[in-house]
Amino acid sequence: MRSGAGAMRGPSRSSDDSAPYARPNLSNDYLAGIGPDEWMPLRSPDYYSNQLIGLELNARALCIDVGKKQVYTASGKTYAFDRLLLAMGADPVKLPIPNASESNSFYLRSYADGRALLREPHRQSQGVVFHLDNAVTRLEGRMAVLKSGARVEADFLVLGVGVRPSVALAE
Ligand SMILES: Cc1cc2nc3c(=O)[nH]c(=O)nc-3n(C[C@H](O)[C@H](O)[C@H](O)COP(=O)(O)OP(=O)(O)OC[C@H]3O[C@@H](n4cnc5c(N)ncnc54)[C@H](O)[C@@H]3O)c2cc1C
Repeated sequence: MRSGAGAMRGPSRSSDDSAPYARPNLSNDYLAGIGPDEWMPLRSPDYYSNQLIGLELNARALCIDVGKKQVYTASGKTYAFDRLLLAMGADPVKLPIPNASESNSFYLRSYADGRALLREPHRQSQGVVFHLDNAVTRLEGRMAVLKSGARVEADFLVLGVGVRPSVALAE
């Protein structure tokens, strides 16, 4: 779109706190601890300035006034637009498990999620076991109680239960 006829120039805003990166890297080398942070950005800062892309991070859009052609962000800013491209991806499905919290349950969708997992001190001290055809019904202390009745001791949970399209802004 930026190089074709009638090429668009303008700002690119994301609610993410990091410049664009490839999410598949999060579940491979980065999480394994063998992919350094320097590998994560898809492009150098120069790329965005050379392409006249004003990259703005931590800029969550809250609502759009189509009539006025304005976007309102969580930080209180208002932006006018001629044409608006919405590409909001998806949000992870979050399970309503009793007693699950940010300190014992992790999601892996963003670079920030990956960094939080890497900070978790117990991640290399335990082997990984898949409990297939089962589900966590609740947490009791350090125990995850499964649908089968089995109780599994765990330092923390990694929740990967799919995503929902992030369409709220366009509704
Ligand atoms: C760990 C992991 C591994 C994966 N591995 C693979 C793989 O191996 N192969 C594969 O094909 N796919 C893989 N995927 C899926 C793939 O990453 C997604 O399909 C892809 O990221 C979707 O791209 P997208 O641009 O549509 O959405 P996203 O990458 O989600 O980008 C959406 C952007 O919109 C921003 N945004 C959302 N709402 C707002 C708002 N209100 N205001 C401002 N900005 C907003 C977000 O911050 C984000 O920057 C993986 C995903 C993950 C999480």
